[in-house]
Amino acid sequence: MDANILTNIEKNLAFVRQNMLECQGNLGLDSSDITLVAVSKFCPLSYIEAAMQCGQMDFGESRVQEFTEKTEAISRSVKWHFIGHLQSNKVKYVWDKIHLLHSLDSVKLAEAIDSKVKQHDSTMDALIQVNISKESTKSGIYEEEVNGFIDDLSRLDGVQIKGLMTMAPLTDDEKVIRKTFAGLRQLFDRLAGEDLPSNIEMRYISMGMSDDYRFALQEGSNMLRIGSGIFGPRTY
Ligand SMILES: *Cc1c(COP(=O)(O)O)cnc(C)c1O
Repeated sequence: MDANILTNIEKNLAFVRQNMLECQGNLGLDSSDITLVAVSKFCPLSYIEAAMQCGQMDFGESRVQEFTEKTEAISRSVKWHFIGHLQSNKVKYVWDKIHLLHSLDSVKLAEAIDSKVKQHDSTMDALIQVNISKESTKSGIYEEEVNGFIDDLSRLDGVQIKGLMTMAPLTDDEKVIRKTFAGLRQLFDRLAGEDLPSNIEMRYISMGMSDDYRFALQEGSNMLRIGSGIFGPRTY
């Protein structure tokens, strides 16, 4: 492997971890409270291996084919997060390799997962993707639909809901970004206080990417998804 690439990934990871620690310190959180998912989409396997050498074990991918290739090529016990839109007819390719699905956004998808995992006496952990900012280009369900969605999920207990995920709008406006993250945190706290079905709990709140993870931490994220900030700019 190119020594420069390894050095860069090592440096970037150390920088992100340092920022996380500072934010956590300022917020009075302890270091085990926050999970860093390294988003390796479009990156070669050698980048993932470099990050693994630095102790990184959680990786995020967003496309089924790439996810399948990478999970097959890397045999060590990595935790694979699926963070992109997942079509119900693709569940069969990935269901047994996903540590956590961040993008559950329809009853149809939940039904497809539920029926697949139950054939194998298994379950899948997932987060509900919420479109807080209501941008038409984003997937995820609207905030006001979440309670109805949870009712539907209660009969699909092959799917174990562990929390919520959102993406901030593509903007430089810090206020808009913070408002999105604060909105998800409020929803998360409200739901955590409700009497939820037994397959649903509020443990993870997945928000924050390379350009906005500091805001996300300050607004109460406990799971970051960082790609280019670790691996450098993606070449598509
Ligand atoms: C690509 C992607 C990320 C990481 O984006 P960066 O800006 O490279 O950190 C995070 N979350 C999702 C859902 C993504 O698709």
